[in-house]
Amino acid sequence: MAEMNTKAMYKLSYGLFVCTAKQGEKQNGCITNTAMQVSSDPNRISVAINKANLTHDMVLETGLCNISVISQAADFSLFQRFGFQSGRDVDKFADFSPSSFKTAENGIFYVTEGTNAVFSLKVDKTVDMGSHTLFLCEPVAMEVLSDEASCTYEYYQNNIKPKPQAVGTTPSGQTVWRCTICGYEYVGEDLPDDFICPICKHPKADFEKIVK
Ligand code: FE
Repeated sequence: MAEMNTKAMYKLSYGLFVCTAKQGEKQNGCITNTAMQVSSDPNRISVAINKANLTHDMVLETGLCNISVISQAADFSLFQRFGFQSGRDVDKFADFSPSSFKTAENGIFYVTEGTNAVFSLKVDKTVDMGSHTLFLCEPVAMEVLSDEASCTYEYYQNNIKPKPQAVGTTPSGQTVWRCTICGYEYVGEDLPDDFICPICKHPKADFEKIVK
């Protein structure tokens, strides 16, 4: 095993979550695949959030967040709303159906539509991990929201994310790099090594080269 076959990374299993936070009057949230229980006594839940996300800064500064566990009943629009746009540009809750979220005791909204459980978390420790900050949190409230199965990252890829359109070769023969996470397309022969998807913040490794 001398090689670094990065495809091995895709064999790790993940759930998917909406992490919400509130700072001042601003309510915001993002999609993350990195929430998990890390210890049972004391009970601690970790969540790693990409520093590029506004939600990251809000959790870092307030020490509070809610984690809604996304279920298999979730619609792709949930991922678009919380994952494919930034809270710096839009109010993600402004046109969100009032029946799709509630307010927790901590004052932070949490998503109830397409989710099966929710945790209110209080940050206990933070660890700077470079691209992400790892938040080690104490759950202060938790509730089951539905009996639907949890949505794994694999389930999302196979069943919720729209299949890429068939790519035909056109006379223009443009090289396009498509983000396999969110579908964002970058046109150009070369994708810079340090390229970060402007929509979902994933790196070059998550892009596939196609020709149109
Ligand atoms: Fe992307």
